Amino acid sequence: MTKQLENNPLLNIKQFPNYDSIAPEHALPAIEYLCNQAKTDINQLLADEPTNWETYEKLEVVADRLGKAWSPISHLHSVMNNEQWRKAYQDCQPIISQYSAEMSQHSGLYRFYCGLRDSQAFADYTDTQKKLITDAIRDFELSGVSLSDEKKAEYQRLVQSASELYTTFSNNVLDATQSFHLHITDEKELAGIPDSALALYRQLAQQNEVEGFWLTLDFPSYVPALTYADNRALREKLYYAYNTRASELSDDGAFDNTDIIKAILSVRADLAELLGFSQYVDLSLANKMAESSQQVIHFLTDLVKKSKAQGEKEYAELLAYGKEKLGITDIEPWDIAYISEKLKQAEYAISQEQLRDYFPVPKVIDGLFDIAEQLFNVTFTENPQLSKWHKDVQSFTVKNADGEEIAYFYMDLYARKAKNGGAWMNGAIDKIDSRLMEQKPVAYLTCNFIPPTDNNPAYLSHDEVVTLFHEFGHGLHHMLTTVTHSPLSGINGVEWDAVELPSQFMENFCFEKDVLQKMSAHKNTNEPLPDDLFNKLTAAKNYHSALMMLRQLEFSLFDIKIHSKYHTDNPQDVMTTWKAVRKDVAVTPSPDYARFPMSFSHIFAGGYAAGYFSYKWAEVLSADAFSRFEEEGVYNKAVGKAFKKEILQRGASRTAMENFIAFRGRKPDITALLRHNGIAI
Ligand SMILES: [Zn+2]
Repeated sequence: MTKQLENNPLLNIKQFPNYDSIAPEHALPAIEYLCNQAKTDINQLLADEPTNWETYEKLEVVADRLGKAWSPISHLHSVMNNEQWRKAYQDCQPIISQYSAEMSQHSGLYRFYCGLRDSQAFADYTDTQKKLITDAIRDFELSGVSLSDEKKAEYQRLVQSASELYTTFSNNVLDATQSFHLHITDEKELAGIPDSALALYRQLAQQNEVEGFWLTLDFPSYVPALTYADNRALREKLYYAYNTRASELSDDGAFDNTDIIKAILSVRADLAELLGFSQYVDLSLANKMAESSQQVIHFLTDLVKKSKAQGEKEYAELLAYGKEKLGITDIEPWDIAYISEKLKQAEYAISQEQLRDYFPVPKVIDGLFDIAEQLFNVTFTENPQLSKWHKDVQSFTVKNADGEEIAYFYMDLYARKAKNGGAWMNGAIDKIDSRLMEQKPVAYLTCNFIPPTDNNPAYLSHDEVVTLFHEFGHGLHHMLTTVTHSPLSGINGVEWDAVELPSQFMENFCFEKDVLQKMSAHKNTNEPLPDDLFNKLTAAKNYHSALMMLRQLEFSLFDIKIHSKYHTDNPQDVMTTWKAVRKDVAVTPSPDYARFPMSFSHIFAGGYAAGYFSYKWAEVLSADAFSRFEEEGVYNKAVGKAFKKEILQRGASRTAMENFIAFRGRKPDITALLRHNGIAI
């Protein structure tokens, strides 16, 4: 190691990165060195084809050293996104991608894990060790590592071709979205649309060097127009353009995705077959909690059955309101969002800005810690010693009941220049406790709330309180883990249709009256949240929940059916499948020309292929888990202890289904979700 590398703070991270000394120029040399070193180390460790756990522990140290250097780089790139960090990150990224690709295809590593599985010692390994080994083998096999050379080449060709098709699909959606605009000069035509959207239209007009207003099909432009424009013809025009994007009906078919979807489905079916699955759904489910396509279809159709009557009722209510109050007698699809918003304002009006006056950040954080402390028997104390990347960041220590430090986290709550938007939790350090090393988990909790002013604390809207609880739930999952090996500790290795369980679970507390009252204090009167606001909040939460549920189920069922053997064996066009699903599920009309699948990027260009159901799946898990608290007491310590022991601490050391059953005493049930959504069963 050269002198320069020796002083590189990314190379010797122990329990915490030293943010006082990490600078962008450290990134590339550290990543280059660590990736090369890791490759050499791995090959050396595997040279004699060892089959013992000691070798696994050595490999874990190698992987962790790289992970610990990369984590602060990608974190600083997200939260201190200046030119230097952007460049440092961009320089490292291809090296990291190349390294990850090589590792997932590493036949020596694959043979090593197979060797462990087939060794005599395997029978005596703990369940966690066994699962770590079999999960690793599964992931290698899903990357095609066990195929013959000829099939491996075919696999590479299919993966490459899929990735090109996904890019074409997205580009078509993007080009089709951008090819349309409406230039309007008479403001009267835009009556009803809020000022914030009008300001955007004006700004877009300026950018295009014209007077007046410029409307596009991008979300921030399209949604307010469809929701608020009193001008019905305008809504219809936009609706048609939006719903025919990337189909044969727009742009003379220049961006038509019909054939791209066919090609994507065919490549995916081939990939599944090559890896030994009879349909693409099965390949997608191989590393998810859901066990089979039948199980998923049953799950979704059951929810449809239970939600449909209420969906019809909600739609009838909307029709009646449109007719009686707004004089729209022949309701069309482009009227639905408009009427829905008017009805919501009339009956359930609640403004997030009004709620903001009630939730000062310090009180909300106290309330959040208080719940977690009571339920999970841990304490949170501020730890000002840790070095930080910005003065607004706070750091905390988590201790167990014996006063032992078990984890740490950083909270970076406020929006600022050069910080990426949104809210997320990331692991900074993974828990590892082996013969070779010991480290405690460290988490980053990042939000983008409005910062405090000189004299006043920051205040949160209720939506933001929910966000904070959500991310803290992910944080607890990462920090309370007792699993001692990083591939399965915290949220690592958890099936992705189950990873939202702890986060969505924590959201439930934000709809409990006493919890809200405890952490609210009006900025002028110090009063806690009054009952009438609490009641409105609950009613607004469930407004048109059945209609929304049915829409999500429509997407999910279409996604599963289009990726199933049924579809490949009975080649029919995508629109036929789409219409068949809608016939079973939807209660709102859709015109014949609507071509929704042509822009469904989540499943045709993103990671949700045959996985869109995960949204609902995770909601069922979290609602059902929380319902045990509702049954036995929201602050019931025994239930809290069980949730911590069976779910939060376990990580991926068991399957998510085993964790759930251990906590709930049975498989997940949809009843609680329906009840939480106000859907009568
Ligand atoms: Zn989440």
